[in-house]
Amino acid sequence: MSDPILTIVVPCFNEEEVLPITINELTRLLTELEQEMLISPNSKILFVDDGSKDHTWDIIYQSGLNNRRVKGLKLSTNVGHQQALLAGLFSAKEHSDCIVSIDADLQDDIRAIREFIKKFHDGFEVVLGVRNERKTDTFFKKHTAQGFYKLMKKMGVNIVYNHADFRLMSRRAVEKLENFGEINLFLRGIVPLIGFNTTHVYYNRKERLAGETKYPLKKMLSFALDGITSFSVTPIRFVSLVGFVSFLVSLIFGGYFILLKFTGNTTTGWTSLITSIWLIGGLQLIAIGFIGEYIGKIYKETKRRPRYIVDIDTFNLAYPVLSDENDESILRLEQANMVGQE
Ligand code: UDP
Ligand code: MG
Repeated sequence: MSDPILTIVVPCFNEEEVLPITINELTRLLTELEQEMLISPNSKILFVDDGSKDHTWDIIYQSGLNNRRVKGLKLSTNVGHQQALLAGLFSAKEHSDCIVSIDADLQDDIRAIREFIKKFHDGFEVVLGVRNERKTDTFFKKHTAQGFYKLMKKMGVNIVYNHADFRLMSRRAVEKLENFGEINLFLRGIVPLIGFNTTHVYYNRKERLAGETKYPLKKMLSFALDGITSFSVTPIRFVSLVGFVSFLVSLIFGGYFILLKFTGNTTTGWTSLITSIWLIGGLQLIAIGFIGEYIGKIYKETKRRPRYIVDIDTFNLAYPVLSDENDESILRLEQANMVGQE
């Protein structure tokens, strides 16, 4: 096999602080891998700008001008980490034999990528990066994340413990990913479903190099809820179970109350009445909430909206020498260029 073309896909949302470092580190890594004859000289890094509000795109675009390895994909608006990553994977697969995805903050050890590639040479099509430890995460993040994995497992979602979105996939695996048409895509859960020859590589997770986490608690919670409700109907079953149990309990209580009535003891009641009203009301609300969650999912899926919209793709443009085939994109590129030079 000739040396495979590798593309490293990096989703970026407001990452201006860390991007210059990331670009340097990844470029250096590609050069090394190339010298070790592990990858083709045509290997690239594809930065996906997920609708950033800061100078993220300018940095990507500018460095693409003098670094042939740097390519950029600008999404028209913020669509979230998973969808941005997907946009990158689908674009990258057109130009690569294998694709590695990694976060912009380089918390995942880029040295593991060398191991990924070696595994790819050994014939593995999916290589999952798995964290050894979580020493550098805050106490809160560590425990919420661990709880999340455990909960997912309990709910019957097949995900690999401590594997995030740091992985290598062959071109063929990414192509298969396209067949999963769902909008609520939770990559960690989907990738195991693709099957193919899969293996793990262990690494240590570091601290964010610069900038702040783009996953505040609110996003984390919605991510967890999405992950569960996209894969599992356990919550709905649980709700039915609770409903059934409370029905049984109310039957027993009903019998008891009737008994009280016939024995002449009817003055009791207000306390049990008011508590059961609250109890049942609460249960019903929970049930409706869960059902609503799924209906919301169905609603989103049925609309079949595009997952993301690409604004600019520097892969497809002959630049910095701009061709005259596509006037509009050239105009946009020039504008982006000017912003960058301010
Ligand atoms: N990210 C993104 N879109 C978003 C939020 C995050 O593309 O709406 C990217 C972000 O730039 C980073 C990756 O997703 O490359 C993971 O985010 P972050 O490192 O902030 O998450 P954490 O490691 O704290 O869970
Ligand atoms: Mg991070």
